[in-house]
Amino acid sequence: MNILVVEDEKVLGKALLRGLQESGHECVWSQNGAEGLQLAKQGAFDAIVLDLMLPDEHGLNILAALRDTGDATPVLILTALGSVDDRVRGLDSGADDYLTKPFAFPELLARLNALSRRAVTRPALAFSIGPLQLDLTTRRVTREGNELELSPTEFSILGFLMRHGGQVVTRKMLNEHLWGEDWGGMTNVIDVHINHLRRKIDRGYDAPLIHTVRGRGYVLREI
Ligand code: CA
Repeated sequence: MNILVVEDEKVLGKALLRGLQESGHECVWSQNGAEGLQLAKQGAFDAIVLDLMLPDEHGLNILAALRDTGDATPVLILTALGSVDDRVRGLDSGADDYLTKPFAFPELLARLNALSRRAVTRPALAFSIGPLQLDLTTRRVTREGNELELSPTEFSILGFLMRHGGQVVTRKMLNEHLWGEDWGGMTNVIDVHINHLRRKIDRGYDAPLIHTVRGRGYVLREI
């Protein structure tokens, strides 16, 4: 296996790196969240071991950012945060497994092996709302089986709307999703993209799926 370890504790990181290599695995070790996320996006890893308390970013934010890109690489959270709430939050955020420090290395290894076996048969990450389907793995979008050609930005907006299907999504949320939290530009850029999306998704159909909620934002729903 090719494993990415995101862990800021040097002694533990080194031990993991050495242990995994001695077990016959390839291993890349990153000591902060931003670099870890970058590596995760670029590399073809079979599994990721993710610490939560990182110096620059909480591990769950790293996980969410990774899943937002459609990356389904198995993630095992390895953390000292071991309450039931922490575990549930981790698994709800898209983690595949959760191991609390202190841990036994053979158990970590066994869990990683189990994750990689499961990943082979993992179904594609996909959303569907009524007749609309979006597949994050193949990046295909269809309405009633007809394939729609979306720009990367439109795909990202639609993915976000589908993830929050039935809920109001504000322009601010979309801005942050697309350009990060410190983005302070014009919100009407979002409206332009939404208009393009509407043309591609709703034109020619009786029931629109993208609805404007006046003064608040947008909602994707069937009726
Ligand atoms: Ca840490």
